[in-house]
Amino acid sequence: MTVSGLGAESYSKTMPERGLGDLILNARNDIRLLTELNGEPVSHFRLREFENRDGLTMVHGSVLDSLERVRRDLSAMADEEVWVIVTDGVRTQADLERLAARIGWIDEGGAVSRNSRHLAKFGGIAVDVTARVASTRDRVPQSTLGEICRRHFDWVKDDYADGHVHADNRARSTMTG
Ligand SMILES: [Zn+2]
Repeated sequence: MTVSGLGAESYSKTMPERGLGDLILNARNDIRLLTELNGEPVSHFRLREFENRDGLTMVHGSVLDSLERVRRDLSAMADEEVWVIVTDGVRTQADLERLAARIGWIDEGGAVSRNSRHLAKFGGIAVDVTARVASTRDRVPQSTLGEICRRHFDWVKDDYADGHVHADNRARSTMTG
């Protein structure tokens, strides 16, 4: 089985300071996540791709399902393997404030929502993603990735200056009964 989502970006994000903690960090959250698409088991993402910089992580089950569907559709469109790379998952309040210090709160003209769906209180429903063609490492255009994410996530935003796409399952995560 080929494993996607293990591009350079996600590694650089999850391989922080070198030092005494190396042995522990190398195995941290190194767990394959398994779900099913149309009754077939699929596993192209690892828990560590969703962790914050401290290694804390939380993933809503529907997000894994949506990501596998996006990956499947992009690969079918390209007629070859496409990696979906998670660049950001769950955030603590401190993570959010650090990010806002860098790129600003929305109500102050920036890009960070004070009620971000990345916050742990929403249950791990949000991811930021990019995508690359595995063989060439060519980046999938933001608009294409956004379009496919709209098929499989409840809410998508794809006009960020750095080219990433935000996707979350805010509707299905709050369905009750
Ligand atoms: Zn986001």
